[in-house]
Amino acid sequence: MLIDNHNRVINYLRLAVTDRCNLRCNYCMPSEGIDFAKREDLLTIEELKAVGRSMASMGIDKIRITGGEPFVRKNLMDLLRSLAEIDTLKDISVTTNATLIGPYIDELKTLGITNVNVSMDAINRETFERITRRDAYDTVHGNLIRLITEGFNVRINFIVLENQNIQDIIPMLELQKRYNVSVRFLEEMPFNGGTKGFQSLKWNYKGILDYIKNHYPEVQKLVDPPTSTSLNYKIPGHKGSFGIIPSFSRTFCGSCNRLRITATGDVITCLYGKPMMNLRGILRNPGLDTDMETAIRDVIGKRAKTGHEAQQEYSKVFSNSMTSIGG
Ligand code: SAM
Ligand code: SF4
Repeated sequence: MLIDNHNRVINYLRLAVTDRCNLRCNYCMPSEGIDFAKREDLLTIEELKAVGRSMASMGIDKIRITGGEPFVRKNLMDLLRSLAEIDTLKDISVTTNATLIGPYIDELKTLGITNVNVSMDAINRETFERITRRDAYDTVHGNLIRLITEGFNVRINFIVLENQNIQDIIPMLELQKRYNVSVRFLEEMPFNGGTKGFQSLKWNYKGILDYIKNHYPEVQKLVDPPTSTSLNYKIPGHKGSFGIIPSFSRTFCGSCNRLRITATGDVITCLYGKPMMNLRGILRNPGLDTDMETAIRDVIGKRAKTGHEAQQEYSKVFSNSMTSIGG
């Protein structure tokens, strides 16, 4: 079992498989992209498999595959097949923009990988294309509905963006009215590749909830699972539910159970902190004194208590992009 220096059990790994993406969401990176990692610095599929096995042996029982866009990574399914063979992993899930998932839906189901988070920040085509800077609306919408109707456990991630998609909040809730899905509204975070910094947020979780309650005064609070980052709600008569994630306000740090490993092997113990170490050297030089378990236990013993504390390491603005961190 992995326990950090604040007595929090770490059982959840967010594993990024690439920093590349076929969309250019404006809250995530500039239109020209970022300085993507050199190919030789990306962990290979075999190295990612080794990371998965090793982390599972230390007590990780939930792995979320993320990126960049996971499905742009060649041989992603090879990695997923290998992870699906690890008995102690109770949950393997994927976060995707749903542009490329179509051909893999059947096999994902066969592998039992049915927890899929789809990022979709607008239900209106023009708004969607303005935010993503690409013309992929029909594919994303089609794949989203297919995942839902084929029985996947789908959560829709919608980043609430001032002056961009506020008018889509209520129409997006129509999806959870008709289908048993959760629509999660996330506060924007300043991880956009340095295009925009901010110290406060108009559309924070309170603002988002008030806005929804204005339209649906009958909103009911649900009981949140213990390590949940979302505050969850139900509108009576609707099939699904909705959640709000205070990712900028960070009200959930006290129960944080997660660790992040980027596509280049950086180990991040807090989303708002800098990488604590890199695994590439250990993976590529098995003869080294330090093995992966010693290194991971070491950094887990030095975790910041909260995202606000971790953020102190940055002087002013974050220059990194969520496509490198994995969300
Ligand atoms: N490409 C996949 C996708 O978009 O779902 C996976 C990677 S993406 C970096 C993971 C999550 O981070 C997505 O839900 C995305 O919306 C979210 N994200 C990206 N930039 C963000 C930002 N600046 N603030 C909040 N969430 C962000
Ligand atoms: Fe790509 Fe996901 Fe970032 Fe959008 S949020 S640019 S889909 S990595």
